[in-house]
Amino acid sequence: MDAYPPLAPKVRGRLAPSPTGRMHIGHARSFLLAWWSVRAQGGELLLRIEDLDQTRARQSWSDGIVEDLAWLGLDWDGEVVMQSDHTVHSFAARDRLMEKGLAYACVCSRKEVREAANAPHEGLGPVSGEVNYPGTCRGKYASLEDAEQQTGRKAALRFQIPDKPVHVSDGIFGELDFALANHGGDFVIQRRDGLPAYQLGVVVDDGRSGINEVLRGNDLLVSAARQQLLYAALDLPCPSWLHVPLVADSRGERLAKRLGSTSLAELREAGMQAHEIVAWVAQSSGMKTPTGCAASELVGEFDVAKIPHQTATWPQPS
Ligand code: GLU
Repeated sequence: MDAYPPLAPKVRGRLAPSPTGRMHIGHARSFLLAWWSVRAQGGELLLRIEDLDQTRARQSWSDGIVEDLAWLGLDWDGEVVMQSDHTVHSFAARDRLMEKGLAYACVCSRKEVREAANAPHEGLGPVSGEVNYPGTCRGKYASLEDAEQQTGRKAALRFQIPDKPVHVSDGIFGELDFALANHGGDFVIQRRDGLPAYQLGVVVDDGRSGINEVLRGNDLLVSAARQQLLYAALDLPCPSWLHVPLVADSRGERLAKRLGSTSLAELREAGMQAHEIVAWVAQSSGMKTPTGCAASELVGEFDVAKIPHQTATWPQPS
């Protein structure tokens, strides 16, 4: 008897908003596309609120995100996960990285990093104004405690990047190589206030949740390279990456959370219907432009190959 071919693993995606403001039309686009992609493949979708930064996160914004997603017609599988409830796993991963000698304590202040980065050193041309940490504290301290005792300062932990570029295979942007030394250098995995940094938290939480597809804005494309290093270092399987272009307003400016007039809450108050936003996202993503359709009615239209590589333009000024 012929053996059945192995079943493809079920697609597990996620929406991972940070509750640092109201959702705008750019978030709506990335989240709709992530949702369509997963639902089109019969997969599962997790909603994880990335609230680690308690100085910026607010409960009212978490509630607003849930409200906006539901208004758009998006659903998720299981309970909403609050990232701050699970930091214990990030700390365990941090310990593993320290034990493996892949991360080190750094006591440099932001100002010192800026100054060190401005000093001439070979092969580290800045990319689009990024400050490249030149590894000042590499190999200096045995541990975080050692760094803090020796200097009387609070220490962060940084992951030591490799000398060679990191190859990222993206389902939208194709094959890319990132020389991370030119994109900030050794990156922070634990902040000076002791909280897990974004890069570590996202990898540990996606890894633990079995996420195998990450669709998000292409402002995080370089972070995919950093995160790949962490997946490998922690022996976790890396998800497939799909980075979608961001949204700009009619003046060509990238949307930011503080720009109120493109927030879903304001658009809704101004009388806009969810189906109009769904139609705009569909049309700007190479899908048929229906009118009056719920997000769920367009699942079959989604085709990742048709998503344009250019920034999408929301027709209204922000
Ligand atoms: N929480 C991050 C943000 O809102 C996104 C994380 C991710 O998708 O990897 O910018």
